[in-house]
Amino acid sequence: MEYFLNEQQKTVKSLARMVAEQRILPVRAELDEKEEFPWDLIGEMANSDLMRIFIPEKYEGLGGGCLDLCLVVEELSRVCGGIAISYGANALGALALINYGTEEQKGKYLPDIAAGRRLTAFALTESTAGSDAANIRTVATREKGGYLINGTKQFITNGGEAEIYTIIAMTDPAKGSRGASALIVEKNTPGFSFGKKEKKMGIRSSATRELIFRDCRVPEENIIGREGLGFIIAIRTLDRSRPGVGAQAVGIAQGALEAAVDYARQRIQFGHPISSIQAVQHMLADMATELEAARALVYAVAKTIDAGAKSFTEEAAMAKVFATDMAMKVTTDAVQILGGAGYMRDYPVEKMMRDAKITQIYEGANQVIRNTIALELLKRKGRQE
Ligand SMILES: Cc1cc2nc3c(=O)[nH]c(=O)nc-3n(C[C@H](O)[C@H](O)[C@H](O)COP(=O)(O)OP(=O)(O)OC[C@H]3O[C@@H](n4cnc5c(N)ncnc54)[C@H](O)[C@@H]3O)c2cc1C
Repeated sequence: MEYFLNEQQKTVKSLARMVAEQRILPVRAELDEKEEFPWDLIGEMANSDLMRIFIPEKYEGLGGGCLDLCLVVEELSRVCGGIAISYGANALGALALINYGTEEQKGKYLPDIAAGRRLTAFALTESTAGSDAANIRTVATREKGGYLINGTKQFITNGGEAEIYTIIAMTDPAKGSRGASALIVEKNTPGFSFGKKEKKMGIRSSATRELIFRDCRVPEENIIGREGLGFIIAIRTLDRSRPGVGAQAVGIAQGALEAAVDYARQRIQFGHPISSIQAVQHMLADMATELEAARALVYAVAKTIDAGAKSFTEEAAMAKVFATDMAMKVTTDAVQILGGAGYMRDYPVEKMMRDAKITQIYEGANQVIRNTIALELLKRKGRQE
């Protein structure tokens, strides 16, 4: 479908497609197999200025919005969901700084992120606090001139590879969810180390790791916003990044649909290509229709955010849940269309199916995202605003 993207968006999309097809495609299977972080490709993306897209111009970025970011993530995901999330999590880690950081913080960190010199990560989840994020136990105790951090974060994308971490920690545990704060912690800060590196089902070239804080001191200027705003910053940051997970899902599904169409056209059974079988055609038709519906929703929500909407929790949640459920279905159907070949690593669809699964889980498991949508819906009694 023609989405009438502006010139910058068209350029961004074709640049990301070029990097994905020329640089990522030849190595995606190997990186997945070896579970290797794609440092060379991060370098390629930096050289192509893709890391600058979501950073404001004032800090050496290209000033792109949510839609620009979604277009890049979609194109990278069409070829490899794992490499795409290393890119996407870098944007997630930077978003709190961009939207709530001081001038000093932005001037200090954003130009390096724009140039791809330093990667970021966003750390909320802990072993006792996944969907129940308000149950985090990591504490940042106020002391003279700064904070003393103790605790462990789990499942952090870009963990170990990133240099700049936005973490959510309790600065006043007695206040519950109003006692959390967002803080910047740099790699190599004494008391900050990395624990278990996860071995995953999919997105295997991305790094997912524990962050361990043991008497880790950060100066007071590392707080983002002010004390007590941690969960508000986390929730609003996730509202802005959820369309990006939707875009990841759309990209993965697009790759799977193309692989399924190619295969159906060349696979001969009963003397004809299987693409001539109506049952296969109907599967492809449904895959394409559901994919386009998800893309349209993701783009519409991204445009709403870029137009300056004040509240978009429900819309961002809808884009995430709809696109990610679609991707799981479309990739599963793609494997089905390839039959036994689809189950083998010689073809990309088994990886796409593995990669799609995580999109239903992270940045809020889809059941929990549905709770969010229902809450918003019930608040306004189902009325269209
Ligand atoms: C590969 C990977 C990368 C990740 N990257 C990051 C990252 O960069 N930063 C970060 O902070 N976190 C990250 N996460 C964590 C991720 O956001 C959480 O895994 C996710 O929010 C779910 O939490 P959980 O795994 O603890 O599941 P749980 O909360 O234990 O949920 C288990 C199941 O119970 C269901 N459930 C729980 N509560 C409810 C409820 N109230 N209503 C209905 N159903 C419910 C869930 O939907 C799910 O199906 C990552 C996770 C993975 C696997």
